[in-house]
Amino acid sequence: MKTVFITGGSRGIGKAIVQKFEAEGYHIVAPSHREIDLSSPESVDAFITTHRQDVFDVIINNAGINEINLLENITDDELDRMLQVNLLSPIRLLRGLVGPMKENGYGRIVNIGSIWAVVSREGRLVYSATKNALHGVTNTLALELGPYNILVNTVCPGYVLTELTRKNNTDEEIENISRTLPLRRMADPSEIAEFVYFLASEKNTFITGQKIAVDGGFTIQ
Ligand code: NDP
Repeated sequence: MKTVFITGGSRGIGKAIVQKFEAEGYHIVAPSHREIDLSSPESVDAFITTHRQDVFDVIINNAGINEINLLENITDDELDRMLQVNLLSPIRLLRGLVGPMKENGYGRIVNIGSIWAVVSREGRLVYSATKNALHGVTNTLALELGPYNILVNTVCPGYVLTELTRKNNTDEEIENISRTLPLRRMADPSEIAEFVYFLASEKNTFITGQKIAVDGGFTIQ
């Protein structure tokens, strides 16, 4: 049985990914926010120490936070928290957990980016910066890990109806945005999960180092 490690599996896109892998018969390691606090390097290091020997076939860096502010209003706390959760903790986790995957000679890594790493929008400075940087991680790792049969990709979801989206947009805004999208609707989290599963499964044998938008056509407009 293959094992998948995923962050942020409690709700939203992460929960849909967990459900998909469960349905496909994977063993899931999806620590809760209480078990791993991605805003704390100490918490991440403690988790790694406990799981250093575990062989993961799939690692999915899904958890992410998006605090919206114009440049002059960005606080140090917010800057630090978003860098930790969206970028530095994923790097720490990969560094700590990839060893057994390399020895195993098989692996799939998916980093969850965002369309705000393809295009941007006012107030998304730190979020866009972290998601773009995460793709830099994908690129370099795809090169470093290719010889070990480990494929690494970034999936960039478009608008998905999750708590994060509801937190950042009113109901009216959600309706207005939906009207502007080529498919006239936001995605269901399961639609992102299906593609993440494909990339992370044995069916993906040759896609690596890519940044792929699953956005209903948003970024081609
Ligand atoms: P949600 O806000 O719905 O869920 C976020 C998940 O991350 C939760 O499981 C949450 O745990 C976990 N999490 C947040 N902070 C921490 C932390 N400090 N330590 C550990 N876990 C944490 O997010 P989405 O499902 O919407 O987003 C998932 C990913 O997709 C993110 O990377 C996001 O940037 C990206 N994305 C989302 C889009 C959207 O439209 N929703 C669009 C593009 C990208 P808990 O519930 O316990 O707090």
